[in-house]
Amino acid sequence: MNKSTQKQQYQGFEQGPIRPPSEAYSLLIRVTRNCPWNKCKFCPVYKGEKFSLRPVEHVKKDIDTLYEHVDALREMSDSSGQILRDDIDAYLSKLTGTRRQAFYAALHWYAAGMESVFLQDANSMILKPADLAEILRYLKNCFPWVVRVTTYARSRTVSRISEENLKEIARAGLNRIHIGMESGSDEVLKMVRKGTDKEQHVKAGQKVVAAGIQLSEYVMPGLGGRAFSRAHAIETADALNQINPDYIRLRSLAIPNSVPLFEDYEAGRFEKLTDLETAREILLFLQNLEGISSKVRSDHILNLFEDIEGKLPEDKGKMTGKIERFLEMDPHEQMIYQVGRRLGQLRSIEDLDNSTVRREIEELCRKNGITPDNTDAFINELMKRFV
Ligand code: SF4
Repeated sequence: MNKSTQKQQYQGFEQGPIRPPSEAYSLLIRVTRNCPWNKCKFCPVYKGEKFSLRPVEHVKKDIDTLYEHVDALREMSDSSGQILRDDIDAYLSKLTGTRRQAFYAALHWYAAGMESVFLQDANSMILKPADLAEILRYLKNCFPWVVRVTTYARSRTVSRISEENLKEIARAGLNRIHIGMESGSDEVLKMVRKGTDKEQHVKAGQKVVAAGIQLSEYVMPGLGGRAFSRAHAIETADALNQINPDYIRLRSLAIPNSVPLFEDYEAGRFEKLTDLETAREILLFLQNLEGISSKVRSDHILNLFEDIEGKLPEDKGKMTGKIERFLEMDPHEQMIYQVGRRLGQLRSIEDLDNSTVRREIEELCRKNGITPDNTDAFINELMKRFV
């Protein structure tokens, strides 16, 4: 047993606070608590929380509890998989505390088809490779039908794992790693205290790909601010061109009052991009992606363009075309799109053709005094609620 885990008492089933948007239907298994780095200036998630590893035996106990609940759900279900509410209530009435919480997790997973599992929290690859492999094998043994097991990882950590160990982890069942690259620019990475650099990002990414594990790289448009916007776009594209990850996912910068970057922003040391400037930056970024076959996704509520989606290289023109169309619109149209998109009323620029929705957004702008000149201030406040 690891030194940092040997004194811990089992506190019952646990789940961490976040998962990637694409893991909405995954079973969340917590193998560590919080983030071992916890210094990124833009990140609010684990601030003030202490990192710890969970003992392998505790994680296994969580899996056992989930297994028990999944088994019970299967017993309750009829031949079409349906379960009566009364049966669930009767089962729940016997559960208390974290066993009840585990049941809700199992129920959510059961309803979603039980295909995928996500290991929490911020950097599961920090576990000893043998411990991680043991958890993965145990998981597969309990739920052999699972098709995808994924986790978050830091580039710095992955870059230090041997190729052999990574392959062992892949064989044990980890098939996708989500890495928060955020930027490929060393200036930006240093400014936001990401604790890694471009070289480590590239090395880690290449290692994951070589181990046969799918790789999802997160990019944060706007993170370089006005000062480094161009370098951020070009260097990030260059890092990704060297990796060729399976997925490139965009998640735009938001600056809630609780993150350290907010102080820089308030003091004028960090100049946040407007939506228009961010759009130009994303366009430059996409234009610089070359020679790779990654799928691009923009599946985060914070993004101005939810419909930038496609496979490189064939869909590049389609994706850049959407941004160019936005940039060519007049300021009033841009305002309607920005507000409508962030309120969830529009999903794409084409939705602007819906006259009823348009009228609703125009009315909302009028009532709230939103004009093309103050749209970004309104959006900034709105975005803080989604972080
Ligand atoms: S490594 Fe990830 S979770 Fe940790 S502080 Fe940075 S962004 Fe947040």
